[in-house]
Amino acid sequence: MHNITVIGSGTMGNGIAHVFAQNNFNVTLVDVAASALDKALATIGKNLDRQITKGALSEAEKAATLKRIHPMTDLRQGVASADLVVEAATENVSLKLKIFSDIDQHAPPAAILATNTSSISITQIAAVTQRPAQIIGMHFMNPVPVMKLVEVIRGYATADDVCQRIMDLSKQLGKVPVEVNDYPGFVANRILMPMLNEAIYALYEGVSDVAGIDTVMKLGMAHPMGPLQLADFIGLDVCLSILRVLQDGFGNPKYAPCPLLVNMVTAGKLGAKSGEGFYAYSSGSKELVVAERFR
Ligand code: NAD
Repeated sequence: MHNITVIGSGTMGNGIAHVFAQNNFNVTLVDVAASALDKALATIGKNLDRQITKGALSEAEKAATLKRIHPMTDLRQGVASADLVVEAATENVSLKLKIFSDIDQHAPPAAILATNTSSISITQIAAVTQRPAQIIGMHFMNPVPVMKLVEVIRGYATADDVCQRIMDLSKQLGKVPVEVNDYPGFVANRILMPMLNEAIYALYEGVSDVAGIDTVMKLGMAHPMGPLQLADFIGLDVCLSILRVLQDGFGNPKYAPCPLLVNMVTAGKLGAKSGEGFYAYSSGSKELVVAERFR
């Protein structure tokens, strides 16, 4: 495998392109928005600079990494010579089904098509293609250049050798892959999201305030970040949509999103990306929203 096409150049797409390019793969980075591509290249440059500051990378390696990334807005042209496509576009079922149907028609027949989806069924995505055995989940964690895990998700029809190649490739990127089966939320979000939802319920019911809940989980459970702050970083809209996938997928009310989460998303309080969630955010600094509000 040499030619990797990454679809979507947002938070995850730019990190995935960064990691492949740094490991000597030839990367085509596709986005519908040219401005997103510009922003992605600037972010990758900044993140490579951070690695230089830490002594983990040389200026020459940075230049070579950037040179291996080719931005493009035309998806069909972008996948034409791909050995592997990693889709990291917006988390929306109908959008992903459309993208996969397009990729399937324009990528070489032997190409493996992977998705970085957090929660959408790999089997459902595979069903809109003519190559269901070559469809797989390659779920990187945020921030991609830093986080070691890749959750490798086998769809109902994913072939053994395709899964093995993606496991091997993940190791080649310096990551630790874990193979899981295709059920709602896979493993990561099936366990994480109910915990975040429970933290929001504890706040909603007045068991403690924002700082109290996050401090208990940080100091008591050695979590690097409290659950409410983590929910803000992931995006409250993203958390809500994953909880709904779990609720619908299992038909179990235990996954029902807390009404406070629903209200906050409806009010446009989406966490760090909107400037306010459980905390307030201004120019990269994190400042606690008046906790009494939630008492
Ligand atoms: P994002 O909103 O930051 O980026 C999505 C990008 O996709 C945007 O730049 C958008 O312009 C582009 N896009 C939309 N439609 C497109 C199309 N038809 N063709 C090409 N590009 C298109 O989103 P993100 O947070 O990077 O999430 C991307 C995927 O990764 C989602 O499936 C998400 O569930 C998953 N994911 C996200 C995280 C996270 O922490 N953000 C973690 C793991 C997985």
